[in-house]
Amino acid sequence: MVLKRGIFLLKDDGFITHTTEEQRKVEKQVLSNYENVQDDKNNGIKLLRSKHISYLKKGLLQLSDSYECLDASRPWLCYWILHSLELLNEPIPEEVCQQVANFLDKCQNHDTGGFGGGPGQLSHLAPTYAAVCSLCILGKYWLAAYDIINREKLQKFLTSCRTVSGSFIMHHDGEEDIRGVYCAMVAARLTNVFTKEMFKGTADWLASCQTYEGGFGGLPGLEAHGGYTFCGYASLALLGQEQKARTKQLLKWVAFRQMKLEGGFQGRTNKLVDGCYSFWQGGIFPVIHSILQMYSDENLSNTNWMFDQSALEEYILVNCQWPQGGLIDKPGKSRDFYHTCYCLSGLSVAEHFIGDEVTNTHIEGSQTNLLQPIHPIFNICIDSANEALLHFNKLAVPSSD
Ligand SMILES: [Zn+2]
Repeated sequence: MVLKRGIFLLKDDGFITHTTEEQRKVEKQVLSNYENVQDDKNNGIKLLRSKHISYLKKGLLQLSDSYECLDASRPWLCYWILHSLELLNEPIPEEVCQQVANFLDKCQNHDTGGFGGGPGQLSHLAPTYAAVCSLCILGKYWLAAYDIINREKLQKFLTSCRTVSGSFIMHHDGEEDIRGVYCAMVAARLTNVFTKEMFKGTADWLASCQTYEGGFGGLPGLEAHGGYTFCGYASLALLGQEQKARTKQLLKWVAFRQMKLEGGFQGRTNKLVDGCYSFWQGGIFPVIHSILQMYSDENLSNTNWMFDQSALEEYILVNCQWPQGGLIDKPGKSRDFYHTCYCLSGLSVAEHFIGDEVTNTHIEGSQTNLLQPIHPIFNICIDSANEALLHFNKLAVPSSD
């Protein structure tokens, strides 16, 4: 299987840099991991499901107790853990849902609207995205979780972060970047507080972030980057303005970010592979696919995404699993909830092809490796997204005056 990719070892053109040295180390380690799997044919490659679940559950417990580190990212920890658990099809008991939802309520700023990084902190678009997604996941198990979100105030907060050019600042007096647009747009769409005025001019601003390479930068003129590209293109899709992007150039850029030997994705040109880009880059393909489908592109596959799904699954399963549970960036790195969430999200994208007419699964290794399918734009599971949209779309959009 994978060893055929061994011929694509890095060519450094005789110019050694820190990155080329690091790249060689990664290639060596990854190749040896693939060789070991090859020798161990009986086992195949297996997702360490129960190990991951117990790592995540321990994290969730600490979180609702007192989780001191990453103090400004606590809604993110909730989101990374809850989304990973739903991907693994592990239900969350109602009393845990209540605890986590009440904790998120404490992070909600009832004066300005939106959510801060922890109780009593300033509202910020990134934890607002994480808190809204978390509550949409929890709502699947415990309906009252949806009602934690103060929609009127949320709408006011989102609107207050908009700039005249249609971009968004991350928080009051904070920096402007493309993540702000994505976080605001997802929060607004999921909770049905979206208005056209809120995103007036935004599509043009987003399009101006697409670089000569085809990917998107964090601001106009900055280097193309996987995370920003996902945020930019997914936001254009949510606005129904994807024609403002050069989609085929984007497709070419993102397709070439899949590493030939490793099988995973790099975040930028000439950088190392990293498990989290399994989602930030891999997750762009379903969005591109659905858009090309709308324009009835006859060359479009009916069965596969336009990247090597097997290679990505192998990279994640063979190189990114921490033996005691949790997933990692690349061999040699430690586990964390962020990489666990985005490695699993990327694995889910690779496993599920969801086309207009056909859906199919594509599973490397054991059949038990199959994860739940995600909504490729919101990055919560499809059932969570559908139930939340069903709930919130019945409510009126708050009036913005
Ligand atoms: Zn990473």
